[in-house]
Amino acid sequence: MAMLLELTNKGIYCPQADVYIDPHRRVENAIITHAHSDHARPGNSHYLAHKDSEAMLRMRLGEQISLRTVAYGETFTINGVKFSLHPAGHIIGSAQIRVEFKDEVWVAAGDYKLHDDGFCPVFEHVKCNVFITESTFGLPIYKWQPQQQTMQDITAWINTNNQQQTTSVLMGYSLGKMQRLIKQLNHFDFGIYGTSDVVAVNERLREAGCDLPYVKPLKSNFVKENLKGALIFASPSGARSALFKKLENYSVGYCSGWMLHGKSKYFSDVDRGFALSDHADWDELNTAVKESGAEKIYVTHGSTTAFSKWLCDKGYDAKEIEFMKGVG
Ligand SMILES: [Zn+2]
Ligand SMILES: [Zn+2]
Repeated sequence: MAMLLELTNKGIYCPQADVYIDPHRRVENAIITHAHSDHARPGNSHYLAHKDSEAMLRMRLGEQISLRTVAYGETFTINGVKFSLHPAGHIIGSAQIRVEFKDEVWVAAGDYKLHDDGFCPVFEHVKCNVFITESTFGLPIYKWQPQQQTMQDITAWINTNNQQQTTSVLMGYSLGKMQRLIKQLNHFDFGIYGTSDVVAVNERLREAGCDLPYVKPLKSNFVKENLKGALIFASPSGARSALFKKLENYSVGYCSGWMLHGKSKYFSDVDRGFALSDHADWDELNTAVKESGAEKIYVTHGSTTAFSKWLCDKGYDAKEIEFMKGVG
C-alpha cells in the first residue's frame, strides 16, 4: 500500500490526493506551509495556503497565481483525504499541514517555533501518527533566551548608539524577523526607518490587515545629518554596501539564531549579533515531537543526522530526509 505521504525528489507528496507540500519543482497542486522562498516556489499550477500567507505569496510569486486560501483548522477534502492547516508559529501565515486518511494522521510541520514572538499565532500541538519535523537547530547547544531579554539587549544597544550619534542598522530577514523587530522596537523618540524591501513587506502586510506600526522608508537620497543616532531596519539582501558607504557613523546588529555562539565568517561586517530565531531550539524540537504523540518521525533541514539519531535512541522510529537541507 502506498504511504499517505511520500518523500519524493519533488518534495512531500500525497499520492491519494495528488498534491505536494512545498514542492521544489513545478507541480499541478501545491500546498504551501509558508511564504519563505525555499518553501514557496514559483511555477506551480495551483496553490493552497493559509489566508495570512496570501499577501506575501502574491507579492513574491506573482499577483495572478491560482491560490486558494483557508483558515487555521478549516478542513478540506481531496479524493477522500482530509486536510487542515494549523499554526506553526514560524512567520505570518505559517502552517503545519495535517493529513488524514483511513484513520492515519500525518503532520508536516514545515518550519516552526514554539515560543510566542508577539506577532504571529502561536504553534499548535497536533496529534498524529507520523510527524515530519524540521531540525534547523537540532543540537543541544541551541537554546534561545526569552524574546523579551533579547529585545532588551537590542534596545540597550540602540540607545547606546543613539547617545553616541551612531546609526543603528538592525538586520534580519525581511519576512519573519523584521515583523517581530518592528512590532517590538518602535518606541524610540528618534528617527526609525526601513530599507525599501523591508518597508515593501511591512506595507503589504499592513494593507492585508496585520497589526504593524508604520515604518518610514529610507530614501536613497537621504540626508546623513538626519540619520545620526537613528534606527534603520534593514534586510541582509538589501543594498547593504551602498547604504553603508553613504552612512557616516554606524553600527550593524544582526538578528539570527546562528548568532548564539558568536558571529561566523559569513557575518564579518556585523558589529553585534543577537540570537533571535524563527525556528525551534533544541528543547522546542523535543517538546514538539513529544506532544505530537507520533511514533514515527521524519527529520528534515539542518542537523537531521544528530536529531534523528537522538530520537532513535529515545525509542522513536525516526529517519532523516535529505532533500530539504538548507536554511530559511
Ligand atoms: Zn525553511
Ligand atoms: Zn521559513
